[in-house]
Amino acid sequence: MGIISPAKRSLTAPAATEPVETGLLTIDLSALAANWRMLAALAGSAQCGAVVKADGYGLGQAAVMRALSGAGCKTFFVANLLEGETARALAPDAAIYVLDGVVPGCAPRLAAAELRPCIGSFAELEEWAAAGVTFGRKLEAALHFDTGMNRLGFAPRDAADVAIRARGIAPTLIMSHFLSSQSADDPVNDRQIADFLAARTHFPGLSGSIANSSGVFLPQKPHFDLVRPGYALYGGNPTPQAANPMRPVARLLARIVSVRDLTPGETVGYDGVWKAPRPSRVATIGAGYADGLPISATAAPDKPAGEAIVGGARCPFIGRVSMDYIVLDVTDAPKGAAERGQWVELLGETIDVEALAGRARTIGYEVLTRLGRRYSRRYAG
Ligand SMILES: *Cc1c(COP(=O)(O)O)cnc(C)c1O
Repeated sequence: MGIISPAKRSLTAPAATEPVETGLLTIDLSALAANWRMLAALAGSAQCGAVVKADGYGLGQAAVMRALSGAGCKTFFVANLLEGETARALAPDAAIYVLDGVVPGCAPRLAAAELRPCIGSFAELEEWAAAGVTFGRKLEAALHFDTGMNRLGFAPRDAADVAIRARGIAPTLIMSHFLSSQSADDPVNDRQIADFLAARTHFPGLSGSIANSSGVFLPQKPHFDLVRPGYALYGGNPTPQAANPMRPVARLLARIVSVRDLTPGETVGYDGVWKAPRPSRVATIGAGYADGLPISATAAPDKPAGEAIVGGARCPFIGRVSMDYIVLDVTDAPKGAAERGQWVELLGETIDVEALAGRARTIGYEVLTRLGRRYSRRYAG
């Protein structure tokens, strides 16, 4: 009869090691831990924390936090309450800071999970002090000073007032955030450090933190007591003007689902934006913008398209990136490398997150945090 039993169907299923998904994202937790150790060494006597917001920059908060805790990280930063509660369950003994600060109504849960909000306004300070009265103890928190982002944080000129009104809480950290630390020679870095130092004089003995990933590498070494890298841990380049000193953490492969030969003049994809200039061999991979590969990685008059590594050769995206597919020009790929069922590399040793971002008018941070949910995810190391 025409019905195939599940058992029979499984006979044709792919081998256990080969994912059925057309994308395979491998996250190298040893490289992540090595990146943390490298940053910790650069930070010298300062402690090295880790920013794990946005699901560990898209790579999986749980796996990332376990690996970093294993490497010795004891201080984590997340963006919001829910990420903080997840972090608390994963790292019961760690110090966990919540960058949002005290969002109205969240104080009781922040306190219950022993999270430390990064407080940046008098209203938050009052809510946190009031929650402390309910809990019967002064609650811990960071005091966040705004030295130029104009996003979150107290004005440095209010530092004396903050010091007085912070008596109802238990501050554990004074912090600020660079707006341009990836540009080592931007004079704004010195200005921010000076303003931070000035605010700090009102909090003698309190630990300080201003450096994100790029801040760790600044010539001023503004490490203070705690550095808080995110991006560099995940393989992003904290020194964009120089070679990337970090190990790649995310490797993304996509599978070729179709290959065809085109004659000159035939087009590829929506609106036929790519036209074969020569007899061309093209391969379709099963990953597109729904998988976090930006549509802006499509070629434009002033910008080359994204690329994939096919059998060691760089092969450009052709036509418009679509939801589920990208077409590659594999005419120059080594013979046999571009066949149906084979895997090509979109991120890894050769193409780092910066490189993909650069060809898509975005930044590596966005590439990482938008990595799709349709991939088979594997954690290595
Ligand atoms: C995201 C963030 C960081 C980490 O920055 P990276 O550039 O990813 O290292 C540090 N501090 C604050 C306040 C942040 O928002």
